[in-house]
Amino acid sequence: MRPTIDTYKHKGQRQRLIESLLAKGITNTTVLEALSNTPRHFFLDSAFEQFAYEERAFTIVANQTISHPYTVAYQTQLLQLSPYQKVLEIGTGSGYQACVLAQLKVNLYTIERQRDLYDINKKFEYLLSFKNITQFYRDGFEGLPTFAPFDRILITAAAPIVPPKLLEQLKPQGCMVIPLGEGTTQCMQRITKQTDGTFVTELFDNFSFVPMLSGKNG
Ligand code: SAH
Repeated sequence: MRPTIDTYKHKGQRQRLIESLLAKGITNTTVLEALSNTPRHFFLDSAFEQFAYEERAFTIVANQTISHPYTVAYQTQLLQLSPYQKVLEIGTGSGYQACVLAQLKVNLYTIERQRDLYDINKKFEYLLSFKNITQFYRDGFEGLPTFAPFDRILITAAAPIVPPKLLEQLKPQGCMVIPLGEGTTQCMQRITKQTDGTFVTELFDNFSFVPMLSGKNG
């Protein structure tokens, strides 16, 4: 069972979380507001409700995780979003990152390769309340050619390579935020497509994600 009630206690816990994110360098106020408005405890089983606002990841169904709040805030900040941009997320997972992005008023397309996660999210009322989120059961390495090109692409699993089809599906001046690497940690990278079709890569901090796997499961 998931919690569905957002209390003053939860709001207070989120306020403390926001203060800790600010102290760690998340300074974009619209990103902080989006996290402050997103009830992270809705994404966990009631058994974990009391830990929802601690800085940690959790295992959800199908052995997948809900990312750390700091990781979600960090990736969202790197995307430098504006309202109405077309954004592709690879790895819907718990749907938490998707709902944070949706608060920033972008048009979000999110892909999950695990059938059971996709099925759960298709019935998750809080997620469904965002009309600017569209969910797909696909292999993220393929992207979504029929909806391309995208202003932004966000990968929320450890990518072994930069998926070439995703680079193709970026708009000129668009960017992809990707944790790249196969080991225990990945380097966060932002890859921007120039107007001449070439790419500029910026390197950021190291994180630890579950692997991005090929093909659909289920
Ligand atoms: N954004 C998520 C993070 C989930 S963890 C959140 O906020 O909770 C990463 C997710 O990526 C997992 O659910 C995993 O199943 C999914 N994933 C891994 N490889 C994928 C692929 N090739 N295509 C789509 N999803 C993928």
